[in-house]
Amino acid sequence: IITVRNMSKWFGGFKALDSIDLDVNRSEVLCLIGPSGSGKSTLLRCLNFLEHYDEGEVRKDGVLIGWQEGDAKPRKPLKPAALREQRHHIGMVFQQFNLWPHFSARQNVAEALRQVKGLSADEADSRAMDALRKVNLGDKAENFPSGLSGGQQQRVAIARAIAMEPDIMLFDEPTSALDPELVGEVLTVMKDMAAEGMTMVVVTHEMGFAAHAADRVAFLESGRLVTCRPPGEIFGAEPSDARLRSFLQTYR
Ligand code: ATP
Ligand code: MG
Repeated sequence: IITVRNMSKWFGGFKALDSIDLDVNRSEVLCLIGPSGSGKSTLLRCLNFLEHYDEGEVRKDGVLIGWQEGDAKPRKPLKPAALREQRHHIGMVFQQFNLWPHFSARQNVAEALRQVKGLSADEADSRAMDALRKVNLGDKAENFPSGLSGGQQQRVAIARAIAMEPDIMLFDEPTSALDPELVGEVLTVMKDMAAEGMTMVVVTHEMGFAAHAADRVAFLESGRLVTCRPPGEIFGAEPSDARLRSFLQTYR
C-alpha cells in the first residue's frame, strides 16, 4: 500500500533521513524502532507529508504523496485541497492526544467527521458512537477530556482517526505520554485494529508490542534504515547487526 524509494530528508545541512527504502503491505503492522533522534518521527511524518521529503518518492497505492507528479525541478507540492484529500485516507495518532477540551468524546469524533467528511450532525453522531464503541468507550461518550484518563483520551483520539475510515494508520509513540498502568488498554485497542486488518505503522518504544503485534520491525539509526524483518529475527537470541544488538540491550 505504501512504497518508499530512496527517500532522503534534510533539516538545513543535517541529513535526517538517508535513502530510505521501505514497503508497507496491506493489513500489515510495521513497527519502527531506534534510538532517540534516529529519524523515526520524521520518517512517519514524511509518509503523510507533514514533513516534506527532499529526494526520492513516497507512494500510496502508486500515487506520489505530497509532490506533484512529473520531472519538474524543484518539485512542486500539491495544492492544499489535493494534499488534504490524500491525508483524509491516512490516519495519524500522536503522543499528545490533541482533543478539543470543550467538546465531549462523542463531539470530538463527530466534529472531525463533519469538518472532514461533511457529514450531517446525525450521521456524524452515529458514526462517532460506532467508533467509540470500537475503542471500548461507548459508556464514556458524553465525558469531556478533563473527565477521562490519559488512556481513555488517547482512545478517543484513535476513535477520531478510525472514524474517518483511513486506508492506513500512523502512530507516533501513542503510549509514551501515559502512566504505565494505562498503556495496556491502548495497546489492546491497537491489537484489535490490527486483527481487523487495519494497515498500521507504529513508532514505539514498547518492545513487547513490537515483538507480539508487529508483522515486521524496522530499525532506524542515524537516519538510515538498518534492517526490516519479522520480529522473531529482530528480537531473537542474537540479532546479527551490532547496532541493533546494542540498541536492544538498553531495554533488557
Ligand atoms: P525520538 O525517539 O526522540 O522521538 P526520533 O527517532 O523520532 O526520536 P526525529 O524526531 O525523527 O527522531 O528526529 C531525527 C533528527 O532530526 C534529530 O536529530 C532531530 O534533532 C532532527 N530534527 C527533527 N525535527 C527537526 C526540525 N524541525 N528541525 C531541525 N532538526 C530536526
Ligand atoms: Mg520521535
